[in-house]
Amino acid sequence: AWARIRGRLREEVGEVEYRTWLRQMTLVGIEGDEAIVVLPTRFLRDWVRSHYGDRLRALWQQENGTVRRVDVRVGPERPATDTTPEAEAPRGNGLAEPLAGKPAAAARAAAADARSDWSAPLDPRFTFDTFVVGKPNEFAHACARRVAEKPASPGFNPLFLYGGVGLGKTHLMHAVAWAIRNGEPARNVAYMSAEKFMYRFIAALRSQSTMEFKESLRSVDVLMVDDLQFLIGKDNTQEEFFHTFNALVDAGKQIIVSADKSPSDLSGLEDRLRTRLGCGMVADIHATTYELRLSILQAKATAAGIDVPKSVIEFLAHKITSNVRELEGALNRLIAHANLFGRAVTLDGAQEVLHDILRAHDRRVTIEEIQRKVAEHYNIRLTDMSSARRARAVARPRQVAMYLAKQLTSRSLPEIGRRFGNRDHTTVMHAVSRIAELMQADAAFAEDVELLRRMLET
Ligand code: ADP
Ligand code: MG
Repeated sequence: AWARIRGRLREEVGEVEYRTWLRQMTLVGIEGDEAIVVLPTRFLRDWVRSHYGDRLRALWQQENGTVRRVDVRVGPERPATDTTPEAEAPRGNGLAEPLAGKPAAAARAAAADARSDWSAPLDPRFTFDTFVVGKPNEFAHACARRVAEKPASPGFNPLFLYGGVGLGKTHLMHAVAWAIRNGEPARNVAYMSAEKFMYRFIAALRSQSTMEFKESLRSVDVLMVDDLQFLIGKDNTQEEFFHTFNALVDAGKQIIVSADKSPSDLSGLEDRLRTRLGCGMVADIHATTYELRLSILQAKATAAGIDVPKSVIEFLAHKITSNVRELEGALNRLIAHANLFGRAVTLDGAQEVLHDILRAHDRRVTIEEIQRKVAEHYNIRLTDMSSARRARAVARPRQVAMYLAKQLTSRSLPEIGRRFGNRDHTTVMHAVSRIAELMQADAAFAEDVELLRRMLET
């Protein structure tokens, strides 16, 4: 059956498309009502899922009625029963291939790491040159610059950077580390995650080499510990960090720490540690603004040497507001597609390539909002959304609201029914199909509903 399905696909899409996307697809097996096929890369998997997923399922159903779903995964070519960890990775998460780092910088990183057996490798892309400064991060950036120029100067030790995920804390820390290593190679700069700090400490405890642990840490000139919130609840490690911290500061060494919250909000961290962390310079990185997102996208597109139209940049900056990492992921995926096809980036193309990411970022509409907007629009009372009244003037808007609730939220029919005055799921089902019918039959009505949808979506 699989051979026939492949044959059909090949006929349908043509030889070129087939060779580009589908040739490497392998059937692993059928589990229950699901056919599992694998492709060698995440990129191919996503492409096949979004472009051929429905067609694959339809062809399978023709061949074998028991197959109702097709699961496209990343996996080894030979049929196997177990899946690779990557196949389990959630969709729409870090799908984009990272841009290649500069080899020279990577070599530098390796050389520098050999010097300090403490430091985790530094990302060669995370330098001051590539950090885009804007209102939300200018203070943190200025502090980081200052510390890079003059480590351990009074008032800036420790430097405590905090902010939400994906806003550039790690990038700034690496930038400081690169700047110091490049400017003064003799300085021993150690960068590590709080997690790594803890593992090293526990390993030292186990092998009874805590003295060595302390000594090696105290030979560090600049200590950077990333994501300190990880130490919450890890009392022994906090204690050790506290001592290390004091010893280093007393010896005139620079400490830089990052966390997702300010020292005072890091409840669960020992008080005296919080106090000490807050007594140097505390700098927060705020959520991005539209302007900063524009500049970051522009800078990254230029760095990649790809011409991304202004309309696309504005579109992304408008849509993807969560953090810089996601913004970067979306842009990287566009760039990967552009490179692959040798085609220019366009707004339409971007919307298509990024449809899953964009959907995830669509503002979640609540049933309450839908009810409110629809009631307002048809000039009925909000309570009539849940009332038992059956008059057409009330019942029709209620059906529209149910229809929109089904379309715009991920609620199930019974859940939607409950929110509309405890109605049965069959009532919701009926409303959904009734409204769809009416929209087919009556263009003006369809336009009305579409207008409501657009108002709710933006
Ligand atoms: P955090 O450590 O705060 O979670 P990161 O430092 O890992 O965030 O940043 C996430 C991604 O966003 C990285 O690839 C980083 O290079 C990028 N990034 C964040 N802020 C900026 C900025 N201001 N300019 C350029 N790139 C940025
Ligand atoms: Mg980080």
